[in-house]
Parts: sequence; structure tokens; C-alpha cells
Amino acid sequence: MDNDIGAVSCNMIAAQPLGVLASARAAGLACIEWFACRPTDILEPAQAAEIAAISSSLGIRNTYHAPYKDGWNVAEQSSVQQTTSIISEMLRQASRLQADLMTLHLGELPANADHQAAMRQAARGVGHAATLAADLGVRISVENMPIVPGKSYLGDNPEDFDMLFEVADSASVGLNMDFGHAHVARNMNEMLARHGHRLTNTHLHDNDGSADQHQPVGQGTIDWTAALRWMVRLGYQGPFNIEFAESKGGYGSTVALIRGFTG
Ligand SMILES: [Zn+2]
Repeated sequence: MDNDIGAVSCNMIAAQPLGVLASARAAGLACIEWFACRPTDILEPAQAAEIAAISSSLGIRNTYHAPYKDGWNVAEQSSVQQTTSIISEMLRQASRLQADLMTLHLGELPANADHQAAMRQAARGVGHAATLAADLGVRISVENMPIVPGKSYLGDNPEDFDMLFEVADSASVGLNMDFGHAHVARNMNEMLARHGHRLTNTHLHDNDGSADQHQPVGQGTIDWTAALRWMVRLGYQGPFNIEFAESKGGYGSTVALIRGFTG
């Protein structure tokens, strides 16, 4: 296995895209997952094209983390058509960065919304958007979510992914395993047993099981040996994207840990 190891851009010390690329190269990272949380994080097309050109010249692979707040919350859309439309727009943003993978949150449910009904609508939207994803060469990688008291996220349990992959059964739709989220939700083994063959991306960060703390790998209670052995057993070929703040200790030891398992 020779998986790409990268990091999610908003966690890196460098604030600007060119600085992110320079420090990724200095740290020996092979990819960057460009993170957009809110509409204000979304890159102008010209800027996205510039980043794509520089990444390509540096040999750095781009993946894209789609926005999920404000108007971009998939769980809040009023119809399948609306859901399809916003995911399609996210895919165009990913494509401008020449990203080949797009991490997608299915979003936070509004109060009193029906989880099953919202999940079905989200899955149908992903299924419709998969055609555009295939055309653009961007695979949609749907992220598993943590359990957070007082909130409800689509994708926080394996059954949501049963529905997703039943409704949106496409080579352009896969799973982004966020190990930190799975640790809080206590469902890593079940998620990987049921959906590991759909794995296309991963997020690595740690916690003590009580909350989604995004701590450095090894500073929480995740069994990383078990987690990485799973990846080897699955024959996982996709990227490992580190998702804790670089300022908390750098990425070198995490890169070494991953390489120790995957060669
Ligand atoms: Zn994540």
C-alpha cells in the first residue's frame, strides 16, 4: 500500500493557500484537502484555478471538503431537487480545484425533523448528483458523523449508510471514515464491517470518546493499531487526511505511524 498522506487545510498553521502548499511540501505531504466550512471560505474560480495549477506543479494532490453550514447544510434542504442542486454546485467547486474526491457532510438536522425522511432525501440527492460527479471525475465521499448531545447529524450511524448506498449505489459515491467521529459514536468496527469496501477517504484525529475533540493522533483513546490494521485488511488505497491542528504538535509522528502500517 502506498496511500497518499495529507492534511485538511484549515488545520494547518499557514493561513493562505500558497503557504498551505509550501508547508505541505516541506512536511512531505502528498495531498491537501481544501476545506470550506462557510460560504465565505469558498474560493473564487480564478483562485481555485491558480491553486490547482500550483498543486499540480508541486506534485500535490487536491481533495475538497465541501461546505456544510448556512445555505450548504444538506439536511436542511427542502426537496430532493434542492439537495441535488447544492451538491452539484459543491462538485463544480471541487472540480475547479482539480480535486478527484469531495468529502461531504450530510448535515445537521433542524429541530424536530424526521431523521429517516431527511436521510432518504439526502441519499436521493447524492444519487442524482453522482451522474455529474462521474462526468467531472470527482468522487463523493460521505463522512460519518459523531454523536453530539442536543444535536442530530445525518450519517451518525451505520444504518444511514445502508440507506445511502442502497439509494445512491454508484462507483462515484463512497465513505469517508472519520476515525475521531466513529470513536465518539462507538461505531468504527460496525461502519467498517458494513461499508469498508466503499471507503474512498479517511480523516485522522483523536479524542477520549466523550466528545469530538480533534486531538493529535495518539493523544486520545482510539486504538490506532486496530484502525490501521483495518485499513490494511481492506486493501484501502485512498488518502489518509490528518484533521487536527498542526500547531498542536506537527504531523511527522502521524505520518510515521501510518507508514509503519501501510509501507
Ligand atoms: Zn472529518
